[in-house]
Amino acid sequence: MQILLNKTLKPYNSFSVNESADLIIQADSIQDLIDIWSDKKYTDMTKLPLGRGSNTLFCNHFNGVVVLNRLFGKSVTETDTDYLLKISSGEDWPALVEWCVDNGFAGIENLAMIPGCAGSAPIQNIGAYGLELKDICESVEYLDLETLQIKTLKNSECLFGYRESIFKHELKDRCIITAITLRLNKQWQPVLAYGPLSDLRNSKTTPKNVFDKICEIRSKKLPDPNVIGNAGSFFKNPVISEEHYLALCETYPNLPAYDVTEGKKIAAGWLIDNAGLKGFKINGAQVHQEQALVLINTGTATSEDILELANYVKNIVLDMYDIELEHEVRFYLNGEESFLSELFDERTH
Ligand SMILES: Cc1cc2nc3c(=O)[nH]c(=O)nc-3n(C[C@H](O)[C@H](O)[C@H](O)COP(=O)(O)OP(=O)(O)OC[C@H]3O[C@@H](n4cnc5c(N)ncnc54)[C@H](O)[C@@H]3O)c2cc1C
Repeated sequence: MQILLNKTLKPYNSFSVNESADLIIQADSIQDLIDIWSDKKYTDMTKLPLGRGSNTLFCNHFNGVVVLNRLFGKSVTETDTDYLLKISSGEDWPALVEWCVDNGFAGIENLAMIPGCAGSAPIQNIGAYGLELKDICESVEYLDLETLQIKTLKNSECLFGYRESIFKHELKDRCIITAITLRLNKQWQPVLAYGPLSDLRNSKTTPKNVFDKICEIRSKKLPDPNVIGNAGSFFKNPVISEEHYLALCETYPNLPAYDVTEGKKIAAGWLIDNAGLKGFKINGAQVHQEQALVLINTGTATSEDILELANYVKNIVLDMYDIELEHEVRFYLNGEESFLSELFDERTH
């Protein structure tokens, strides 16, 4: 365990906002986590586990302890049909995907280049290019913060959904994920339904080809958080009713949508782009010029600028389409999780 002397959170959040915390501790083992959570010095302090901070916006000073997850290690076992990879939660997800591709563990390559820790991946059931973590997750191991015992949930118990899981609800603030186990089938079935991957639909395609293609697409499409602060998609793609969709199509016949059980899922990026907001700026915060779903820190943005921009975008989308965007990025205000709707007065419509 390491108590960091510098209390700035800037290097630990991909938006690169310059907020701080009362205390930042790096945890290198499960025992470190147990020690931190049972130490009387920290009993009255809020404690927040943090991976790479690539889905987190610190809205102001964090009143409490930020615990950096640096639990490393991976092991592989196999059955006749599958590889089972047990990955400690602090392992870097993009590095893990690359390692899998290089070492013959296929079936994970569509999730290339998603920043963050392996242990954060189940929290919002990360997904991209037709694959979600839930499709390859066997189980999730966590430290129960009430009993300080290790417990395991199998896939079906994680209640995975679109950017959802039990870890954002029932187990929120009650557990720290310590490891995940992935199940990768030895008989590789490429996932190539996403349009730009269609060139790869032939019998010679390898997992490395898919990985390379996805890296190429992502590098062109998304700003690199090491260069331009951002947290990927800021908002979730909203789901609306069939009637609402049909009504919108009268004004916006090109509205992209696809069927889901509850109705139609709409591309939030299209809604923002069609509202003319690409490139729109509030001080140092900007809607990305090429990818409207991504809000960026042009270099001088404060968390306030990012929140103001997010709220502006949300209100314009609500006015134009009567759709309320939900943010995917997790906000922390005064050491507690917070939401745009709480931070700004709800507008009467
Ligand atoms: C450029 C870019 C592209 C992205 N693309 C995608 C994408 O394609 N698909 C996608 O789904 N996401 C995407 N994201 C979002 C992000 O990569 C994922 O949400 C990722 O899983 C976050 O990991 P992290 O370690 O950075 O989480 P953090 O931001 O550190 O933490 C996120 C939340 O999880 C909690 N948490 C962290 N670790 C633990 C733990 N061990 N136990 C319990 N709680 C914990 C934190 O308290 C916080 O509430 C993108 C982000 C960026 C910057």
